[in-house]
Amino acid sequence: MSRISSIDVGNIKVTALLDGELFLPAEALLKLKDADAETIQNNAENTLSYTNVNAYLIQNGDRNLLVDAGCRELFGPTCGFIQEALTEAEMSAEQVTDLFLTHLHPDHIAGALNTDGTAVFENAQLHLIDIEHDFWMNGSFDASEVNGADWAGLAKAVIGAYSDRLNILTQDREILSGVRSFSIPGHTPGHAGYRVDSGDESLMHLGDILHTQNLQLIDPNISTIFDVDSDTALTSRKRVLDMVSADKNLCTSGHWLSPKFGHIERHGSGFAIA
Ligand SMILES: [Zn+2]
Repeated sequence: MSRISSIDVGNIKVTALLDGELFLPAEALLKLKDADAETIQNNAENTLSYTNVNAYLIQNGDRNLLVDAGCRELFGPTCGFIQEALTEAEMSAEQVTDLFLTHLHPDHIAGALNTDGTAVFENAQLHLIDIEHDFWMNGSFDASEVNGADWAGLAKAVIGAYSDRLNILTQDREILSGVRSFSIPGHTPGHAGYRVDSGDESLMHLGDILHTQNLQLIDPNISTIFDVDSDTALTSRKRVLDMVSADKNLCTSGHWLSPKFGHIERHGSGFAIA
């Protein structure tokens, strides 16, 4: 199977890298309708809670920017294939010049760290949003499985492995030429999307505002247990879906299914991919 899907945005090449795929359990989803919860509980492999874990390679001139790095072995045998995807895109880990993490959850960062704690991308500068960096470095965390001390420990380990080439950014700044972050707080405090602009073409990456596209576009009120602040995440989800459907932006996101690039349109009381 192919793990990559590429488009050109003006002079910038964007490649979606499929790290893996999985099915979220009903317990991970909030505000599910009873019928949907039953469908998910009765069928472990259902389309409603099916999701992908994506990273992106953005190539502009001599810069090779990797956005997010997949989950290594942490989420089981169906995930952790970022290196295979990069190889298919004819890119070695050494050739990655820049790494941007949309947020510091394990499914986006574990693939940046070898199991011995060293950096996978030896030549990459790590770009992080200041609020996100400070939350995981300085927050207090309990033993919760989600957003607890274990996840904070992994975030700190990644930051530590790249500490000699760390670039801390505020939101809404250029990460590199043609690639600019935007703030979508709630999922985590410094959670970021980004837009790619070149010539008169653009692409919006919506971060993790969607985890299960087949549920959350129809009903954006459905959320997951992974949000640090689920009310703020809901506000961000609705604001971004309203914006990209009104502006007719080409979109993708951290857990977007195939095909990896599409337009979001209003559909009934929710949205659909056109
Ligand atoms: Zn995620």
